[in-house]
Amino acid sequence: MSGNQSRVQAISQIVNRKLMPAQPPKRLEDMWATDVFSLSKMQASLPKSIFKSVKNTVQTGQTLDPSVADVVAVAMKDWAISKGALYYAHVFYPLTNSTAEKHDGFISVQSDGSVISEFAGKLLVQGEPDGSSFPNGGIRSTAAARGYTAWDVTSPAYVMETDNGMTLCIPTVFISWTGEALDKKTPLLRSIAAMNKAATRVLKLLGNTEVAPVNSSCGAEQEYFLIDSNFANSRPDLLLAGRTLFGKPPAKGQQFDDHYFGAIPERVQVFMQEVEERMYRLGIPAKTRHNEVAPGQFEIAPFFEAANVASDHQQLTMTILRNTAKKHGFICLLHEKPFAGINGSGKHVNWSVGNATQGNLLDPGDTPHSNVQFLVFCGAVIRGVHKYGPLLRAVVATASNDHRLGANEAPPAIISVYLGSQLEDIFEQISKGGVKGSQGCGIMNLGVETLPTFVKDAGDRNRTSPFAFTGNRFEFRAVGSGQSVSGPLVAMNTILADSLDWVANKLESDLAKGTDLNAAIQTVLKEVMDEHGAVVFGGNGYSEEWHKMAEERGLANLRTTADALPVLKAGYIEDLFQKTGVLTPVELESRYDVYAEQYLLAIEVEAKLVGSMAKTIIYPAAVRYLSDLSSTIAGLKEIGIELEKVTAEKVATLVKSMMDTASKLSDALSKHDFASTEDHMQYASQTIRPLMDEVRQYADALEGEVADDLWPLPTYQEMLFVK
Ligand code: ADP
Ligand code: MG
Repeated sequence: MSGNQSRVQAISQIVNRKLMPAQPPKRLEDMWATDVFSLSKMQASLPKSIFKSVKNTVQTGQTLDPSVADVVAVAMKDWAISKGALYYAHVFYPLTNSTAEKHDGFISVQSDGSVISEFAGKLLVQGEPDGSSFPNGGIRSTAAARGYTAWDVTSPAYVMETDNGMTLCIPTVFISWTGEALDKKTPLLRSIAAMNKAATRVLKLLGNTEVAPVNSSCGAEQEYFLIDSNFANSRPDLLLAGRTLFGKPPAKGQQFDDHYFGAIPERVQVFMQEVEERMYRLGIPAKTRHNEVAPGQFEIAPFFEAANVASDHQQLTMTILRNTAKKHGFICLLHEKPFAGINGSGKHVNWSVGNATQGNLLDPGDTPHSNVQFLVFCGAVIRGVHKYGPLLRAVVATASNDHRLGANEAPPAIISVYLGSQLEDIFEQISKGGVKGSQGCGIMNLGVETLPTFVKDAGDRNRTSPFAFTGNRFEFRAVGSGQSVSGPLVAMNTILADSLDWVANKLESDLAKGTDLNAAIQTVLKEVMDEHGAVVFGGNGYSEEWHKMAEERGLANLRTTADALPVLKAGYIEDLFQKTGVLTPVELESRYDVYAEQYLLAIEVEAKLVGSMAKTIIYPAAVRYLSDLSSTIAGLKEIGIELEKVTAEKVATLVKSMMDTASKLSDALSKHDFASTEDHMQYASQTIRPLMDEVRQYADALEGEVADDLWPLPTYQEMLFVK
């Protein structure tokens, strides 16, 4: 092992560390939602009429009766105080993928100097954080900083335990004084409403008399890395950028496929158990956990929930993973590509739509009636993904996800739909003018009363598709591990709303002309396939062949964030969001500005780090080694021994190349005059990034030459394999 002091110390601390004792297992019932101010807790503490009113809002999305707020606030405060909370916080989700909260005490000082705890309805319903520091993409000038948070009744309040004690947390939306959405929750709620409206129209046209509100569901599989903090703390790149900017791949990586689904290391098990307990207490239904493909990589997935709650819970999950990791001496990396040469981390967003009366509308089902619904809803998704594929690419576009998409481990940047062989066949038959049957399960015909059933899970899985049908839902696989799921959910709900409206318009006009329903549905589905069938692809998404084929089919291949983000400025995207009421043009533009800025900042921070690490960490190690070598060579020469100079020459050449490139990088970074944000992003992607990679190449080659005991950075081997 290494002789480098800090690395040796890190390793010895890890090897000698005492495991945090695993807590004795608790019963699920004793943990489940104990920290949530749930409907049942409200029922127990609120007068009947008030409870009914709140429940109505939660379950049907109806506007909250303002008169109930005071009563709910008092009950919520009493419950929170009984859990030990002294403070409350409006929690909101700015455009940064993070969670923000401003804490306020329940304390209220009376005129005689005594204090009481107080929480009025208006404080529950509305807050006013000074939001001027949150990115808003030009919606507000700093001087006009007023921003409001408003209670989202549909996502339950909870108490969050940290080292500072308990805080009552109230999920909220965050809007500007002029009413524009400054957050990720507002558009999500609007997209659910738009999808509900359009889906209800279609369901009624299909002959349903009773239609409950349609909601979208989300189950997000979260991948992450755990790295011992003794290592991470001596890697400025991991600390500041969340990924390694340098590092030679180890002799052993993931090529043995021996980590995936392998036995979970004991230390990680103890960590996971604590994560799950904290999730259960917050009412988050953690369901699966396993080792992922790369060494040091793991996954956690909850049981799916309504999209809005799932999105809040996903943010909490990321927070819990990060905070709990610290307690266990790890850092949890949610970066999409922390280590070069081994798999990165994604977040598969499983998504469907459904309601209480018709069930899951993307379930092929086993009654004829719901099959028609399924085909219509599935067809609407196909149309949406084709028409708005570039939008789906844009909502997963970040500097960090660029390392992952298209890199033969994650889906390509081309957005296509995988249906599985059976559905693919059915939709192909539709495009040929009528469904005759379905592979493996008898005769199939689109007659409303006579549709036969088809077997679920008939399709295989396809890991290479960015947007895959998986039995009763779609799985959007291109989402980055550190991303909020809101953006992808907003995009999916909105494009579905648009498609369902289009379907409803077609059906209405055909029915008005006297066409029968069955024929009208056939026509609509055929049109979907004629116009949009090109997006359906069941082959290998990683192959070169697909890249060519996709181009012929006219599918966009937006390789980088610099290519993808400008889609948000396109007229048809603006129209989409405006007509569905999800984002105004100003709100959409602000998102473009914020995400472009984040992209540029991320690359700038990394580029500066590359320069400083090359100069202050790697260069000194390399010249120390050179100095050792040269004095040894000179000393040996004095006693008549010739030592080869090849290594010294090689190291010297690499050092020079690295430093030359680092200085080119630093020059390149000083350019600031760009005609447009698009130009600036292209410059970051085409000039800065390649220079960073080049510096790294020389540095990684040096890591393979310099004496191990002089190498200052924890190596890939150590970070990934020392447990
Ligand atoms: P896999 O790795 O095989 O894709 P997982 O069990 O890890 O499967 O994750 C699947 C995710 O999909 C889970 O979060 C699950 O709850 C979710 N899911 C299942 N059905 C639906 C649905 N109808 N809508 C949304 N998500 C769903
Ligand atoms: Mg999956």
